[in-house]
Amino acid sequence: MKILVTGGAGYIGSIAVERLIKAGEEVVVFDNLYQGHRDAVHPAATFIQGDLADKDAVETAVATHRPEGIMHFASYTLVGESMEKPFLYLRDNIVNGLNLLESAVKHGVRGFILSSTANLFDDPAKMPIEENERIVPGSPYGESKNIMERYLHWMDRLYGMRYTCLRYFNACGATEERGEDHDPETHLIPLVLQVALGQREKITIFGDDYQTPDGSCVRDYIHVIDLAEAHILAMRTLLAGGPSGKYNLGNGRGYSVKEVIQTARTVTGHPIPMVVGARRPGDPDVLIASSESINHDLGWQPHYPDLRTIIETAWNWHLAHPDGYTA
Ligand code: UDP
Repeated sequence: MKILVTGGAGYIGSIAVERLIKAGEEVVVFDNLYQGHRDAVHPAATFIQGDLADKDAVETAVATHRPEGIMHFASYTLVGESMEKPFLYLRDNIVNGLNLLESAVKHGVRGFILSSTANLFDDPAKMPIEENERIVPGSPYGESKNIMERYLHWMDRLYGMRYTCLRYFNACGATEERGEDHDPETHLIPLVLQVALGQREKITIFGDDYQTPDGSCVRDYIHVIDLAEAHILAMRTLLAGGPSGKYNLGNGRGYSVKEVIQTARTVTGHPIPMVVGARRPGDPDVLIASSESINHDLGWQPHYPDLRTIIETAWNWHLAHPDGYTA
């Protein structure tokens, strides 16, 4: 397969590239390095530094490399930020995505995989969340992904471009060579590990009065390698003529914020002091994915479902890269 990966210098994208190359596939990365890191891009991938907002640059990349498939990771990704800067998300994620879609259909791309999100499900009637759950975007970020999912429906219907939307729950963990390095960091596991590394004094739990067994929020943490493998499986299926689809992607079990911190204490041997702070706006009590559909249709199953293993892989990467990719 020849695959164009947008956002292939970012956390999840760079690990998808690593796994694609490991599987013997040809990869072109398109990334503006706004959040991504040049050093995160696998050396065997062709790298184009470009911005999806630059329609000509996108068109040139797709026209020159003629990928069979596109994995589209590049976007703004923070729920909280999107509540404060809605236009960034509602304009850039959508207009940039549209630039990519237009070149994709023009050049006959056969399979398109969208990084979508659990933030489509702000008011689930049932837990774990299945694909037929009512779509209620929880933020402009979630809305931007919802709109991209809708656009893909039209690309399939009008141009026959098949797609898979993968709605991620909480991506985490690392490979030996690639891990999570955001600036600023907002995600729970890397923040907890920064405390263990002595880079941060304590971790603040965003509320412990939720309707959960220990009062802290429960999330479905999925290892980034398992996520990456789902992309590869989905792409193979599309390129073999399989139908378009939308899948929720998680482990099917939840861990509370307090459980994450306790597990990180065990893994790192550091006491990791914690304090309880205010709730973070927009956080639901519990988010757990049902991944039965993707298991049934594509045969996907997680290989790293255990929280301890997930945190160990992240910890090993952070120990080897205490300052992230900038070191
Ligand atoms: N969280 C927390 N303290 C932090 C960062 C996150 O308590 O410093 C909580 C957050 O409220 C959520 C969970 O950890 O319940 C996972 O948050 P994260 O930002 O990692 O991922 P998200 O669920 O927002 O995608």
